[in-house]
Amino acid sequence: MMKDLETDLRKIKDEVINCKKCSLYQDRIEGGFYPVIGEGNHQAKIMFVGEAPGLQEAKSGRPFCGASGRILDELLNSVSIKREDVYITNILKDRPPKNRDPQKEEIEARVPYLERQIELIKPIVICSLGRYAMEFLMGKFGLEDVIEPISKIHGKVFEVEIVSQSIKIIPLYHPAVATYNPNMKEILQKDFQILKKFK
Ligand code: URA
Repeated sequence: MMKDLETDLRKIKDEVINCKKCSLYQDRIEGGFYPVIGEGNHQAKIMFVGEAPGLQEAKSGRPFCGASGRILDELLNSVSIKREDVYITNILKDRPPKNRDPQKEEIEARVPYLERQIELIKPIVICSLGRYAMEFLMGKFGLEDVIEPISKIHGKVFEVEIVSQSIKIIPLYHPAVATYNPNMKEILQKDFQILKKFK
């Protein structure tokens, strides 16, 4: 079973490395960057989904390892959750040039990889980090009717049933907001408290 899981996750990785469905592949090759597939516990109860790798992430191939990552680590620490116990990934697996917003066709090309990661890892809680991840996850799990601005629904727990399994979707602000607005760190810290229940 574990072996199948590892094989299937490895297959996603190989496919992403060779995915030429959008121009981000060419940008990665030209920039000498790495794809950022995701990392953490393959049987994690909690999964975090960000938007797209930034420069540091594309240079190292690891999600959330730059300034936003330091804040995410702090937030995890504040609720005594170890980074290696959760799984961290992004909607896009490659950095959009100059960190521009993801485009619709890029999201469409890369979302199937994220969907397969969710199916394989089977987290019981998925935390979206930022608006793009929130809109994608809430849309995917049939919560489009209750989507509101992130300022209204951050930290709320939305419960959904998929194939007789219950998953909780928790929209969170993107940790990057705390790099330019220190008050947001407190809000994030408060929202993270809910995760203590699920460790
Ligand atoms: N921002 C994201 O959304 N993802 C990362 O991996 C890093 C920064």
